[in-house]
Amino acid sequence: MKQSDFKKFKIGTRIIRATSHVDFNVKSHVPPIFQTVNYEYENAEDGFAVFNGAKQGYVYTRDGNPNTDHLAELVALLEEGEMAATTASGMAAISSAILSLVKPGDHIVSSKFIYGGTRAWLEGPLNDQNISSSFVNILDEQEIISAITPATKILYAEVLANPNLIVADLDLLSKIAKKNNLVLIIDNTFTPPPIIQPLKYGADLVIHSATKYLGGHGDIIGGVIVGSAGRIQNINKIIKLYGGVSSPFNAWLAMRGLKTLAVRLDNHCRNALKVAEFLDKHSKVNQVYYPGLASHPQHKLAASQLNGFGGMLAFEIKGDFSAVKRIMDAVKVFNFTVSLGEIDSLIMHPASTSHVSLSDKDKKALGITDSLIRLSIGIEDSDDLIYDLEQALELI
Ligand code: PLP
Repeated sequence: MKQSDFKKFKIGTRIIRATSHVDFNVKSHVPPIFQTVNYEYENAEDGFAVFNGAKQGYVYTRDGNPNTDHLAELVALLEEGEMAATTASGMAAISSAILSLVKPGDHIVSSKFIYGGTRAWLEGPLNDQNISSSFVNILDEQEIISAITPATKILYAEVLANPNLIVADLDLLSKIAKKNNLVLIIDNTFTPPPIIQPLKYGADLVIHSATKYLGGHGDIIGGVIVGSAGRIQNINKIIKLYGGVSSPFNAWLAMRGLKTLAVRLDNHCRNALKVAEFLDKHSKVNQVYYPGLASHPQHKLAASQLNGFGGMLAFEIKGDFSAVKRIMDAVKVFNFTVSLGEIDSLIMHPASTSHVSLSDKDKKALGITDSLIRLSIGIEDSDDLIYDLEQALELI
């Protein structure tokens, strides 16, 4: 409609429908945010052509949006995969990927060292749909193989697992998956490229909670899945119909985060190694879990697979829960929050937060004691991080 045609309408209608004098078709240096549900067309024929697929274009943001597509393209590039899909959260990425592959009666073999939310979904809602899971020690080849049944469709693991930083042997998992015709899904949230590209090791699908390092600033919830075009197209059908799509703004923020991912990770890894070395020598620390330390039981495997050991570490103090609380109250640079992979350093207590729903027996099996503290190391000055921990440890 021409501007002059609006003259005959009342103010209320004109405010809603009037075109602007501002030129929105300028070439913005940074991609704009397409915060829109719908898309417009040149004319009815053009619109019908887009709707029936004869012409490329967007119709409805749950089905596709330039910002979510852009993020998918960048993460596919990052992981060197054929295609990627974006989701509303890491959990939506995990559930959509798995739901695209299983039907009632199927079975999943999963590492027992996985994010608590993933385990809760596998054991709860997915199990209720008659899709069962076995949780195995992925360090034990025989235990993995023994858990596989004719109904098994998926082998699932995380590269570095929370909170004790267990390292998955991707060559081994890939060999087992190929031999048994399983789809290998690897959650790479803790170790995004350039640390590792699981597809190169034979993973079929790679998952990210973009909430963590990809976004990197603690201001979005998001997820991404990378894999072959065929697999991602199937996953996209699930995402769109179950509705767990990324918002354009969150995708835009993740896109912005991706631009500094490599420099942030370099800093996270360097700082984490320094903090781990400091804690390793501290008289009030029983044990440090960081794959970059020679004392970590899988240090050799980590060194052979990873380009940097990540920003996550855990340590067990010589003290009980009350001593843990004293440390958490005393730190000034670290913040008590449950997420991870952000530019600022975070501290938390797995036994009473992320793993609180586990039984004492399960916690023990995973090495989660009341004395264990988890750190997500940020990109602040490492001297300040060490000073902060040193002054807090003095209090116990
Ligand atoms: N995968 C891992 C390894 C995680 O740590 C988390 C969350 O902490 C998730 C997936 C789930 O991601 P989100 O919170 O974005 O749903």
